[in-house]
Amino acid sequence: MKQGYIEKSFSPSKSDLEKISEYTRREFDESELFVFGVVLCDNEIDRDFEKFSKSALDELAILFKGKTGIFDHCAKSSNQSARIFETCVEKAEGKKTSDGEDYYCLKARAYMVRTADNESLIKEIDAGIKKEVSVSCSLADSRCSICGKTRKSGECKHIKGKTYGNKLCTFTLFDATDAYEWSFVAVPAQRNAGVTKSFSGKESTMDDIKKSLEQVNEKLVLTKKEANKLSAYITELECEAELGKEYKNSLVNEVTKLCALSIPEIDSEMFRGVAQSMNSDELLSFKSALSKRASKIMPVELQLSHEKNREPKDNSQFKI
Ligand SMILES: [Zn+2]
Repeated sequence: MKQGYIEKSFSPSKSDLEKISEYTRREFDESELFVFGVVLCDNEIDRDFEKFSKSALDELAILFKGKTGIFDHCAKSSNQSARIFETCVEKAEGKKTSDGEDYYCLKARAYMVRTADNESLIKEIDAGIKKEVSVSCSLADSRCSICGKTRKSGECKHIKGKTYGNKLCTFTLFDATDAYEWSFVAVPAQRNAGVTKSFSGKESTMDDIKKSLEQVNEKLVLTKKEANKLSAYITELECEAELGKEYKNSLVNEVTKLCALSIPEIDSEMFRGVAQSMNSDELLSFKSALSKRASKIMPVELQLSHEKNREPKDNSQFKI
């Protein structure tokens, strides 16, 4: 028995709906279904000091198609079950298992038909409760990491979890023969049976995405739609930030001019440097104070400059 976890819900694509229709008596549209991803198992060593071989994961991918997941161990109602309609073995680029192999996991897509009965269950999944799943399957044989002999051969005398020399004894499971139901469990056995946040089957709002960013444990998986949404949101914020920068620059210019006008003793370039480090509230407060000061000086300044401007004219009269 191995454990995995629910990854998240997503909006089914057209091809998803087609695959689902192979398992349903009638066709359902998107709004009637709750579709989510499940990581069933991986090739990491689990608490039982066992791991799946890559070939076993490939075999299980085929065997798990169409298998039912039970959300309650004593589920009498079929409404409390989900069905796997698609599986794939995914390699995590650059990631290695603790025994140094390339990391693979068996991912599945499952659906539930939304009903009044499973409404609260769906809410629990979306809230991140009920996330670990237990996967039940059967494998024909396993191989010892110490001597390389198979368990079937009867030649291996090593014990799982014991260390021989510096090497930990683990068993790699291969030759998958059957996959059974999968169900929710309270305590995960696999090290990676953590939780990837679940989103609602409906389109995630930016608040949903932000919430999952805040609550992320180890990793967060976004659908393409959600990633696009996040990216568009960032672009929008960048545009607004650009506008904000322009506004701040014009405020800094204004306050610097007012300062030069009302307190000429202060070096205006030095003041500009100070103004640039102010926030908008501080700039506005300086603007208001300096404006008052400037308005008292301004009329005089204007008059002076006016007279200065007149000077050449007057002089020119003399020049003639
Ligand atoms: Zn052995």
